[in-house]
Amino acid sequence: MAFTNALLLVAQAALYFTVMMTLLHQRRSIGLGVFMCALGVMHFLETYLASVFYVQLPHGIISPGSTVLFSGKLLMILLLYAKEDAATVRQPIHGLLFGNFLIVGLVMLLRNHETVQVVAGRVPDIAFVDEIGLLMVWGTLLLYIDSLAIILLYERLGRWLGRHFALRVLICGAVVLTFDQLGFFLALHLVSDAPLSVLFGGWVAKMLATLVYAGFFMIYLALFPADEEQPRPGRFRDLFQVLTYRERYEDLLKSAHLDFLTNVGHRRQFDTTAQTLIDAAADKGYSTSLILIDIDHFKAVNDTYGHQAGDEVLATVARVLKDNQRSDDHVFRYGGEEFVVLSQRMCGEAAESFSNRLRRQIEDVTRDAFLEPVTVSIGVATAPTEGRKLETLFELADQRLYEAKAAGRNRVVGLRRTPVMA
Ligand code: GH3
Ligand code: MG
Ligand code: MG
Repeated sequence: MAFTNALLLVAQAALYFTVMMTLLHQRRSIGLGVFMCALGVMHFLETYLASVFYVQLPHGIISPGSTVLFSGKLLMILLLYAKEDAATVRQPIHGLLFGNFLIVGLVMLLRNHETVQVVAGRVPDIAFVDEIGLLMVWGTLLLYIDSLAIILLYERLGRWLGRHFALRVLICGAVVLTFDQLGFFLALHLVSDAPLSVLFGGWVAKMLATLVYAGFFMIYLALFPADEEQPRPGRFRDLFQVLTYRERYEDLLKSAHLDFLTNVGHRRQFDTTAQTLIDAAADKGYSTSLILIDIDHFKAVNDTYGHQAGDEVLATVARVLKDNQRSDDHVFRYGGEEFVVLSQRMCGEAAESFSNRLRRQIEDVTRDAFLEPVTVSIGVATAPTEGRKLETLFELADQRLYEAKAAGRNRVVGLRRTPVMA
């Protein structure tokens, strides 16, 4: 009997994998929604089976709900990521999360009904619903964590295992399902005092399921070898942020006060925050230096190489400023080709040598990137020694910038009035 059960489980996994993988494979022609709905609708059967439907295997008792369907779903989520991207796979991940919570919410309302019997011998099993309520919430949270974890792990493994997709899938499945089994057993043990044998039995079943699914996946790869992975987001942290929708929010926050072309703060941002930054530092006894940077002969760059090239120069200069930015520095694009770095906790002298470093770097970086080097002139003024008001400081820095230009450009002028050449 145990052998028949094992065969039946493999047949279920084969059916599940074939249908789901076909839907995933055909997503360009039939739409990805078909796959996602199928994935979501399976969840009901999975939960029901995991609660009440258990069968005997040689090593113990297992449920096809968690073995075939739950393991399969995690794998499908992973394969969806491998074939599409983080922005796509987060949709079913979050859909399942909210859908499951909605189910729990609805059940809490439903259980208050006084029901009537319409089919003899059939009564709604509200006690069962009560029992799975808590487990459902826990299982849903676990699934959410599992889904993120399996994708992040898959990416990490990519560094070492590269294009061994089936092996990556196998390891990810084994690790995450082990974690899942531990997490779910913990809840099961607390709620219904489940014995340790349940932990072990379920774990063996999930490992076998992972093996079987990885095997199916290898067959799939052999049949459709050209179907490759998408390019991935460069950084691990980015991936997590996309998976959890954080990037949208953060992009929105950032873009609201960033200059579109150069990705540094824009003029309005400078006008609204600069005085506050100066005051905050001064209150703690720190200086703030205002570094005003203007690109030399920028009009000539535009006239000679075109506006597009001019834009690239602006972006390059901004990048140098950002690359040198400490946590106490605030970079803004003040106007066309003028930038301001507002450096808290930086005295005038330090600001001048910092400015000279920026000036030299801009010259070096643009020499490498463009046909000829681009230089900047810089005026520096420092609060509170030279005043605390933004207007006063800006006027001073602007005067010194003008002096730097008059003295031949490509130089820094600060309080010391000693124009410095490299
Ligand atoms: P100086 O050394 O005296 O600063 O000379 P300059 O040519 O840099 O000075 P000027 O202020 O006369 O020229 C600034 C130029 O910057 C003029 C304008 O067309 C250009 N500019 C302003 N904003 C942008 C922009 O967003 N993109 C590009 N490509 N050019 C811009
Ligand atoms: Mg200018
Ligand atoms: Mg200029």
